Amino acid sequence: MRYIPEVSDADWSTRHSVLTTARRTAALLNVLADDRPDPGHVASVLLEYGEAGPIELGPDEVDEMRVAAALLRQVFAAATADEAALVLNRLLREHTGPLRLTSHGGTTPWHAHIDRDDDAPWAEWLLASSCMALAVLLWDLQRPPGRTCASGSCRNVFVAQGSGPERRYCSRRCATRERVAAHRGRHSAGGSGDAAQGPA
Ligand SMILES: [Zn+2]
Repeated sequence: MRYIPEVSDADWSTRHSVLTTARRTAALLNVLADDRPDPGHVASVLLEYGEAGPIELGPDEVDEMRVAAALLRQVFAAATADEAALVLNRLLREHTGPLRLTSHGGTTPWHAHIDRDDDAPWAEWLLASSCMALAVLLWDLQRPPGRTCASGSCRNVFVAQGSGPERRYCSRRCATRERVAAHRGRHSAGGSGDAAQGPA
């Protein structure tokens, strides 16, 4: 009897969706932004997003992934769809191959790849799969596919999606910190009467 996995077809498909791929790109860019990213930490993000384990990354592979991540950051830094499209077109022209379909030997839903083959190095895979997902999101939403956190003390990128109000921060934590800082700024400006009393 064939084993039926707990994971539903919907989950199986969602795990490989364009949106999940773009979110994986953002998560990888954020761990790879460290000066010396821990290879184990990078591998854990890959596993979290459904890559098959075990994943052993060497320092050289992580270094190459950091170079790819730096290129991809330019897409997240773009303020408009036009700007993001220019960056993506350049990356697609200079770093990726022709479009092909793969199911990784039947282990995943059919999906598109633009790296050379299923065994391409991690850095090539990161750049190609990210360009693909970000290009499709830009196409679909007609806006930049991602953003950089508006907090001056945070370098995180995130995937902007949906039709709600424009999101400015990578996380609730950054949004709260900035709101508290803005409140304190207003408070201390309003409290200048205290300062006028001079030093104690
Ligand atoms: Zn942030």
